[in-house]
Amino acid sequence: METGARRAVPLLPYWGAWSTLGVVGCTVGVTEIELHADKHEPMTENHDVIVIGGGPAGSAAATMLARRGFSVLLLERERFPRPHVGESLLPASMPVLEDLGALAAVEEAGFPRKWGATMVWGKDRQPWSWYFKETNLKYPHAYQVWRPEFDRILLDNSRSCGVVVREGCQVTQVVFAGERAVGVRYRNENGGIGNAGSSFVVDASGQGGLLARQLGLRRWDSFFQNLGVYAYFRGGKRLPDPDENNIFIEAYQHGWLWNIPLRDGWASVGAVVDSSRGQEEISVKGSKKFLLDQVAQAANLSGMLKPAEFVDHPRVVKDWSYVCRPMAGPGYILAGDAACFVDPLFSSGVHLALMSGALAAAYITAAARDSEIAGPAGESYETLYLKEYSHFRELAKLFYSSNRTPDSYFWEARRLASGDPTLSARNAFIQTVAGQPARGYERAVLGHGSLPPTFDSSVRAVEEERSRKGAQWKASGPGLYRSVPHLMPHASLERKPVFREGEFQWGYVLATPGRPEGLECSELVAVALSRMDGKATVGEVVARLQEGSSPALQAQIHETIAAALEILYVDGVITELTEI
Ligand code: FAD
Repeated sequence: METGARRAVPLLPYWGAWSTLGVVGCTVGVTEIELHADKHEPMTENHDVIVIGGGPAGSAAATMLARRGFSVLLLERERFPRPHVGESLLPASMPVLEDLGALAAVEEAGFPRKWGATMVWGKDRQPWSWYFKETNLKYPHAYQVWRPEFDRILLDNSRSCGVVVREGCQVTQVVFAGERAVGVRYRNENGGIGNAGSSFVVDASGQGGLLARQLGLRRWDSFFQNLGVYAYFRGGKRLPDPDENNIFIEAYQHGWLWNIPLRDGWASVGAVVDSSRGQEEISVKGSKKFLLDQVAQAANLSGMLKPAEFVDHPRVVKDWSYVCRPMAGPGYILAGDAACFVDPLFSSGVHLALMSGALAAAYITAAARDSEIAGPAGESYETLYLKEYSHFRELAKLFYSSNRTPDSYFWEARRLASGDPTLSARNAFIQTVAGQPARGYERAVLGHGSLPPTFDSSVRAVEEERSRKGAQWKASGPGLYRSVPHLMPHASLERKPVFREGEFQWGYVLATPGRPEGLECSELVAVALSRMDGKATVGEVVARLQEGSSPALQAQIHETIAAALEILYVDGVITELTEI
């Protein structure tokens, strides 16, 4: 059923490509776009935005856009509910589900609440657990969802927000006019061909990556070239309370296995193994025997599955990590697995998909309103997405390279491929936790991985340095205002789009060599930073900012700048304070 044909919002021209089309400076609606797609059949319908794919990324983007008044057509190849791997969620998805207005329906579906993870990994062969509440008090749990139902809930939510959803429609091509995406060509279940025009196309087609293939955007990750084989079991043993709904992960000689407890006594069980070895063995013994053989090699998991019955035929999925770049271009943006995919060790896929769907909507909202912001906002989208992606990639890399199983090709190859773990992994780790005390996943790596001793000591050194500087700052008292702050070399203030209140808006970031994506700062802090010339004292900088303000505002300015300076000092961006 289709619902919600909405008014088309005329979109402003943006991106360089428009100048070649000679339409810069005027408002262009979808009718004009249609004229430029001259090598293709005329568009039979037009929308502001077309979304390809109705998984978490596509439905999140579509819902957010429809809510903002855009007319959105979502084309989905399958009929929902359709099977999909990826049942274990992260708490980071909860606020996005809330924003989408879908959290209540997800809660009502009765999926088990996931409070953490239990692992057999690293130097201990005994299971150990960690819990989300260690890092997230507001959302201390996530869910172990049945994906066919979870994805259907999100897609139904899109419909109820006014998205025109058409299932059974496979997009075969994104149509371009010059460099700009202007619509799609699709085929329905009866073989009928359709053409739809739009001002923006969101590619959320998952691992199939329609646009990535069309434009040659995908770069494979040489570290994570694995294969996943998974199936469902019923009636297996659960972990003891309070871990009974935790995801269980067990490393074994040839890779690792997951066991995700689902509703009604079901469990999703899968093996992640080296891609070429997996393919070879599966072609000889078949996927069911292959999966059961892997389970048999993992002492804990095989015990849990002893009383279980095997429910259905296993599925084999490619589990190679990749990144597509650029993730946004004239008239298009890639979201979810269509943009990048990272090894599922930390169950990050649905979170990345939902987050990027919401960010893609924010990008389109900004690009449609402001012709100047489109290009830079596309870059900011990519930076933000890659930052979150890299967090999981680096942690997974560290986990892989710090596991040890004697005589294991899988683990030894990954340890060697990670390069010098004392350097690259350490840098990655330090950047990931930004010098904060290790918590959750990070603490687990430090506590249970077989990391070189120098790694552990250098992480500790960073933490000690931060607390030393924090204490020094607190002790500085009024002398601080007579001190001249010195910024680290090559720190630069940039004006670029930042994600704020659900949109990309022009803002300021302070970029440093260690954090090239930059640290967002308010305009007030940006002005203060621009006045730190290595001569002015903190007091002089603050006094200039306070000029002409009321006493109340002056106090607020003073408080804001002092708080910002403390962060910058502890972070090492302000390297020195010389008292004069
Ligand atoms: P998808 O969910 O794949 O949705 C894409 C949709 O696009 C599909 O419905 C598809 O039918 C449709 N489509 C494709 N092509 C077209 C086209 N041409 N036209 C129209 N429609 C099209 N993530 C987790 O969070 N937790 C986990 O436990 C987890 N485990 C995983 C285990 C393995 C082995 C693997 C490989 C992945 C796992 N993931 C996990 C990752 C997770 O499955 C994905 O990251 C997530 O589903 C991505 O969402 P998406 O919306 O980008 O893509």
